[in-house]
Amino acid sequence: MSGIFGVVSKEDCSEVLFYGTDYHSHLGTEYGGMAVLGTEFKRHIHDLSQSQFKSKFCTDLGSMRGNKGIGVISSYEEQPIYLYSRFGPYCLATNAIVQNEEELAAGLLKKGISFSEVSRKAVNTTELIAKLISMGDDLVDGIEKMFDAIVGSCSLLLLSRGGIYAARDRFGYSPLIVGKKPGAWAVTSETSAFYNTGFETFKYIEPGEIVLINEDGIVQRRGGAGKAHQVCTFLWVYSGFPASDYEGINTEVVREKCGRFLARRDRDITVDVVSGVPDSGVGHGLGYAMESGKPFRRPLVKYTPGYGRSYTPPSQHTRDLVARMKLIPIKEVIAGNSIVLCEDSIVRGTQLKNFAIKKLWDCGAREIHVRLACPPLMFPCRFSFSTRSIDELAARRAIRGLEGHDLQDVSAYTDDRAPEYARMVEWIARDLGVTTLRYQTVDDMVAAIGLPREKLCLYCWTGWCPRACRGKGAIDIQEVEKPAARKARLEAAAQPKLWQS
Ligand code: SF4
Repeated sequence: MSGIFGVVSKEDCSEVLFYGTDYHSHLGTEYGGMAVLGTEFKRHIHDLSQSQFKSKFCTDLGSMRGNKGIGVISSYEEQPIYLYSRFGPYCLATNAIVQNEEELAAGLLKKGISFSEVSRKAVNTTELIAKLISMGDDLVDGIEKMFDAIVGSCSLLLLSRGGIYAARDRFGYSPLIVGKKPGAWAVTSETSAFYNTGFETFKYIEPGEIVLINEDGIVQRRGGAGKAHQVCTFLWVYSGFPASDYEGINTEVVREKCGRFLARRDRDITVDVVSGVPDSGVGHGLGYAMESGKPFRRPLVKYTPGYGRSYTPPSQHTRDLVARMKLIPIKEVIAGNSIVLCEDSIVRGTQLKNFAIKKLWDCGAREIHVRLACPPLMFPCRFSFSTRSIDELAARRAIRGLEGHDLQDVSAYTDDRAPEYARMVEWIARDLGVTTLRYQTVDDMVAAIGLPREKLCLYCWTGWCPRACRGKGAIDIQEVEKPAARKARLEAAAQPKLWQS
């Protein structure tokens, strides 16, 4: 998982780039990078595993002068990549997961192309993407062909002498949004980066769309692919920032709606206190409190200074340590009370059990009712999120506990009206040691977001995605984009839209 930010300005852009990139710190914990282009390219990359973006980059600011720049905060690899290609030099930052990267890297190696940025994995994904782009007839063609070749997802910012290319893969798993203010343009993964840097949202880049942003304005180099929209639902439920809008829909508002839906299905319990596991459970808890009329209180507070998210560090030991240390219980709010604890989701359940629920019981809670803002996670993400193995998921462990073995077909357990589903939820509730446990339904989660169901990726919960996204070998793009549609799109691209500064 990564967050990317870019800016083109009539003046020096480095300070805006610095703050805009920093606003993506919730999306990655391992590396940060910035590149600016003035008379020459200037790039810095730092390890952020032990310190925050601002502290690492503030001393670089003085040496980074230019009117165009890109920045990234990433959980996996050093970026931006700097490449001298046959289209000239460029820097590339991505938010990408490429399932078939070994196969693609092997293909390039066979052609005599080498890789220099070897990180903890064999190949740096962003370097692989840069090399694929460089195989095109030009940068736009290279980006399109790269999108055709990868199985997975990719949003990218490419800083070149001609401006910043911003592009989103054909399925649009991760958003990219263009902002505008007098004399400057920006492009971001998170619109929360806009307000304090003075930008207003100008346009949501569509799945498959490629735009070029420079001093003259923004020009569409390829139109969106349209039908293949599969934006990540988890952005609204968990991973996105509350102040951000994706596809024009605000995250905090969706979380409040999720909480309201949970409360509506909860007429059979009486509670004293509604709460949320900070941070992402708080919006859901507030919605629950508004709907139920019960007070929202904070039995658990997060010691924010110095602690990042518990999900993103790649090592389980670090994730557990962070989770244990960051939540502090408030006994006076907990003791003797029946508490609803809202949370975005359960992945393994071990952190929730050991570092939240245990603290509530230890501090004298009378009852604990856990409410999850999304359905049981059944399939590890293949498109956008850091992937956990299927065996780790709490729902799969429950199925194994109930059936005595793993199941290939888990459809009965994903149907919230089936007895198997009820037994699975009971099993997880017992495992967590809570009074009751309820999950959001898929229908309520989709209704809370408000986009048509077919535009949302629901793979985590249903195991379904368009065939073209599954990618056994080459992507069958034809399934989502018929030849006639592709022809029309390319023709439209010959007369590009232009928005001027
Ligand atoms: S599988 Fe889940 S986390 Fe991955 S893109 Fe789809 S909704 Fe998002």
